[in-house]
Amino acid sequence: MTTLPLEPATVSSASASHTWLRRIHSGGQIVETCPDWCTDTHRNDESGYLDDLQHGAQFDGLELAVFDAEHGTMPMPVLAGRINVDPYSSDSRRCVPHIHLEPFQGEVMECLTPNEFAAAIAQVRAHCDRLEAVHAQLMKARAEYR
Ligand SMILES: [Zn+2]
Repeated sequence: MTTLPLEPATVSSASASHTWLRRIHSGGQIVETCPDWCTDTHRNDESGYLDDLQHGAQFDGLELAVFDAEHGTMPMPVLAGRINVDPYSSDSRRCVPHIHLEPFQGEVMECLTPNEFAAAIAQVRAHCDRLEAVHAQLMKARAEYR
């Protein structure tokens, strides 16, 4: 393991990597470097067990205005998530970059591979096509409605 002077973790510009010294509870220390796409602050990652570390970047979902008895409507995030990697995980699905997709708030499709994520995207896209057909049906129904 490499030793470096102990300095507070620094976050540099988006394209530069974040590197810091991390103390491992089971002994030793290790220099960690974020992948370019990681936007985690790692504020609480100055020490920990080796496999506690994750790198990741959240992505926002779209917000749909759902009925709320008190407020009329409330924004409900749909299809948010996180690209993530657990670099020291013994789980082969987690130690490579993967997606945690939240189809709706509070629910998660964990640890999607690129193919699984592509399949989910295709499902959503196909459903939007069906919704377009329903929209056309609604327009026709309204035009004919008396
Ligand atoms: Zn990171």
